[in-house]
Amino acid sequence: MGKFRVAFITPTLPGVALVEKITKFRNYNIFKSLMAGILYIISAPSGSGKSTLVNELRSMVPNLDFSVSYTTRTPRGSEQNGREYYFVSRPEFEKMIAEDKFLEHAEVFGNYYGTACRFLEEAKNSGKDLLLDIDVQGAAQVRKKVPSAVSIFVMPPNREVLERRLRNRSQTDKVDPKVIERRLENAQKEIVNYKDYGYILVNEMLDKAVHELKAIVLSERTQRSGKSLNGTDSELLRTAQCCLLANSHEKVRPVLDSFKIS
Ligand code: ADP
Ligand code: 5GP
Repeated sequence: MGKFRVAFITPTLPGVALVEKITKFRNYNIFKSLMAGILYIISAPSGSGKSTLVNELRSMVPNLDFSVSYTTRTPRGSEQNGREYYFVSRPEFEKMIAEDKFLEHAEVFGNYYGTACRFLEEAKNSGKDLLLDIDVQGAAQVRKKVPSAVSIFVMPPNREVLERRLRNRSQTDKVDPKVIERRLENAQKEIVNYKDYGYILVNEMLDKAVHELKAIVLSERTQRSGKSLNGTDSELLRTAQCCLLANSHEKVRPVLDSFKIS
């Protein structure tokens, strides 16, 4: 319906500008009306275990869509196009930027990464919540567009463990030490932004971190539904509250120290 209205009130615009205007109008409405479901953002320095946590979460929590990002980086290990990422060329990605197809996009490690708006539309149509696995730059862009988004920052227990996880991550690919060093430097820059997030997870014991992530997602749902809490809800709420930024200073301190962040 919005499309017809825009076309009617802007009959003199040339074709390209008209398409852009329609897309912007449509995207604006998507952001505005996304509030029906919950938008979760999860960020972490590469190698912290975010994909592992997200995969566990997705196998346990129903009605949660996952946005498969577009990227210009090459596939790693067993990654498949359309499953972990949509792998596209730089010109293809730049065309999508020009067509305003992204909710957010950023350059990370010299490659583009972006979240397509269509995932928001699809989640809304299917009545599901949506999870975005994006970096700190993307998270900042999304928070501006969707202030009600729930944001979660995952940290490794310390720098040494992160380095080990980065080395062990792909047993088939040769690990370039320069790549590891660059990712560790980038980890430090990303961790500095942890205060912008609502919840903090330190991924030391996998089971504990998975339980905490599940508790955050489910307790946000319960709180927003306004229903009265049963015993399980209250337990999940307590676990989630321990992960709130305001309650995380003690567990974050050793992580910051290991990365020499004051
Ligand atoms: P990311 O998605 O953040 O880049 P991955 O999920 O690929 O990280 O995890 C990096 C490596 O660390 C993988 O080999 C994974 O199996 C391992 N890993 C993840 N979480 C833990 C954990 N809590 N304890 C030990 N190893 C872990
Ligand atoms: P990796 O190449 O290790 O899969 O991801 C590198 C970084 O890019 C991670 O921090 C990951 O969260 C981020 N990333 C993945 N998809 C997106 C996206 O769509 N947008 C943004 N901004 N970052 C993304």
